[in-house]
Amino acid sequence: MSLEYSQDFDMPLISPTYAPQDAGEIGLRPKLLSDYTGQEKAKGNLSIYIEAARRRGEPLDHTLLYGPPGLGKTTLAGVIANEMGVNIRVTSGPAIEKPGDLAALLTNLNPGDILFIDEIHRLNRVVEEILYPAMEDFAIDIIVGKGPSANSIRLDLPKFTLVGATTRAGQLSAPLRDRFGVSLRLELYTPEELARIVTRSATILGMDIDPKGALEIASRSRGTPRIANRFLRRVRDFAQVVCDGTITKEAADLALQRLEVDHLGLDAIDRRMLTAIIRNYGGGPVGLETLAATIGEEAVTLEDVYEPYLMQLGFLTRTPRGRCVTALAYDHLGIAYDGQQTAFDL
Ligand code: ADP
Repeated sequence: MSLEYSQDFDMPLISPTYAPQDAGEIGLRPKLLSDYTGQEKAKGNLSIYIEAARRRGEPLDHTLLYGPPGLGKTTLAGVIANEMGVNIRVTSGPAIEKPGDLAALLTNLNPGDILFIDEIHRLNRVVEEILYPAMEDFAIDIIVGKGPSANSIRLDLPKFTLVGATTRAGQLSAPLRDRFGVSLRLELYTPEELARIVTRSATILGMDIDPKGALEIASRSRGTPRIANRFLRRVRDFAQVVCDGTITKEAADLALQRLEVDHLGLDAIDRRMLTAIIRNYGGGPVGLETLAATIGEEAVTLEDVYEPYLMQLGFLTRTPRGRCVTALAYDHLGIAYDGQQTAFDL
């Protein structure tokens, strides 16, 4: 059996966005707040809002969840539904093409139900405008007929909760943002939190894992549960074939080295990005588009997938004039830093 893992995915291994290889993650989703690891601030506030809404016998206020992909926004929407004891309908901004699509979704809800719209910043304007009265007055205006005989009729909706998720809260229009009563930001997870998630997932999947193995996977997962669960499955294959099946620190290290993920979770593109800023632009500042063109990647990919973690590590800063690499990154890459590099002396 070959142990060479071909990287034959459209998505890089460290991409936090959902990919076909993550199909198994659905069974790993926590169902209740008590199983949902980390995000203590968001969870703390949410548990109070849920409890208060339950006591009043009312649906929860419309809730916006924002933060980088793979951090558990969809999972948290499901947790909210379970905690409130209601049904959830899941859709996404780009999937709702016409006002009629949204009207069909809304009129099929039962009182208290949750409508979850992922990537809500990608809703088109016409659809978004239907959402305003739906969120505010629990009603929609539908145009019946055409031309001069067209009539607008108002349809009452059941009181529901809209849970919106976005990776780009800044792209939400102000009227939409203002209609959310609750707004929760999800943060990258600490390695210790991710180790708890990995251990829980391993238990569900019936794998043997030791605490150091879990921490090794966690430390290399870029603060993102989706990546941690993905690595866990890859390391399991490796542990089964090379070691005795138990996921140890050594098994995790060996597998992740093979996948070219370094001990901090950086992959080849992270390194290329940092090295390009150092070698071509004297450590920065360099504009995002220029950088993307230099290394042949999409600017949005760099911004959504790579930068959040590099910034959390303190390897990259964003300034009004562009991206800059810090001394810490030079150190990690083993490149000498003299504090005032120029493009010529590298
Ligand atoms: P997002 O919607 O933010 O892209 P998801 O909710 O789809 O992220 O989460 C990706 C996967 O990560 C889930 O399937 C789940 O297994 C795992 N996950 C996310 N957050 C948590 C958490 N707090 N605790 C345990 N597992 C989590």
